[in-house]
Amino acid sequence: MTQGHESPIPTAPQWPREHDLYRYQVREATQYAMFMMDVEGILVSWNRGVEKILGFAEEEWIGKHASMIFTPAEQAIEVCQAEMRFAEEQGCSTDIRWHLRKDGTELFAHGFMTAIRSDDSKLLGFSKIVSDETKNKLLQDSLTESNEALEQFAYVASHDLQEPLRTVTTFAELLERRYKESLDSEGGEILDVIVKATRRMNTLIQDLLTYARVQTEMDRPGSYALDQDLETALTQLQGLIEQTNAVVTHDALPAIEADQGQMVRLFQNLVGNALKYRKPDVLPTIHVSAKLEGPVWIISVADNGIGFEPKFAKDIFLPFKRLHGQQEYQGTGVGLAICRRIVEGHGGRIWAESQPGEGSTFHFSLPLEGKAVPKYTRPVTRGL
Ligand code: ADP
Repeated sequence: MTQGHESPIPTAPQWPREHDLYRYQVREATQYAMFMMDVEGILVSWNRGVEKILGFAEEEWIGKHASMIFTPAEQAIEVCQAEMRFAEEQGCSTDIRWHLRKDGTELFAHGFMTAIRSDDSKLLGFSKIVSDETKNKLLQDSLTESNEALEQFAYVASHDLQEPLRTVTTFAELLERRYKESLDSEGGEILDVIVKATRRMNTLIQDLLTYARVQTEMDRPGSYALDQDLETALTQLQGLIEQTNAVVTHDALPAIEADQGQMVRLFQNLVGNALKYRKPDVLPTIHVSAKLEGPVWIISVADNGIGFEPKFAKDIFLPFKRLHGQQEYQGTGVGLAICRRIVEGHGGRIWAESQPGEGSTFHFSLPLEGKAVPKYTRPVTRGL
């Protein structure tokens, strides 16, 4: 064993004393506004983040009422007190809302308030941490706005396309009725192609319109029993169910707050697809099940049909995306995109599992609390 050079034993880093720790972690921190208030809501502490995020120097802050950063101004005290009472009862409260800066502009802030109690559980006051989420909020709102503009465009375009298409369809059908006999076989075939193409375009436009409308329809009265919505969908699919001798079964489905028309359409599209993409030589069996997982219901529609490659499981929810040719199976490729819009509009998500030749299962989740549509609030800038 060789005797190496003795390196000096590293000395433990000198940790700041307790009050210096407070200074580095809280008082000097600028990314978060951190402060405390007494039981009445009077501000009793300050850090650099308060100045950076809210614009108040220490002397402009201490001794004032915390409601001065709440908005709207006429309800500021009420909102501030409600938050304090909630934290007092529950131990803490969180909020994401617009707050006021000293200069009167508004910031979108994520706030976390904790009740502070003495050893004998007496309420001493509250601590609050606020982060500035304005940039994220503005980005999110501009995305929502451009999505809305896109929806509006899809709606107007498909709506206005209907009129000229109707004219072409009417005249092509008229030509077919009156003059088909006098055309030679090639002329007849050409006319057939025109008539079929206009019908298909009509279906595409109808589906596009339905897709664009899903969002605007959201505020209709809620339905409570999904069983009923499924039954209504099955009634509408009755012809196809009888024609294919399909067996459709379902578990007891939950009662949930949702848009009835949209739930019916959702089941109709999913069960309709399960019937459409059946194996030619096997009787279709379809089962709709429901299970509760934490705060959400998972509803699943399972079939024993032709299935598809799992790598396409995401793409099929895009508008106009189809895996099977128009000759084999008719369709526009918009049905699942509509399903996705409906489910996401209700605060849930939709996904699929499948293997070619082994059937498919489509799952969607719905939150227990009913619609959880993210609220779109416009940024407000106004004086105090
Ligand atoms: P469409 O049925 O009009 O083509 P959809 O949006 O409903 O449109 O479906 C998109 C594609 O997903 C279909 O073209 C098909 O290839 C595939 N698909 C949907 N449901 C099933 C299913 N139950 N089994 C197999 N493939 C399916």
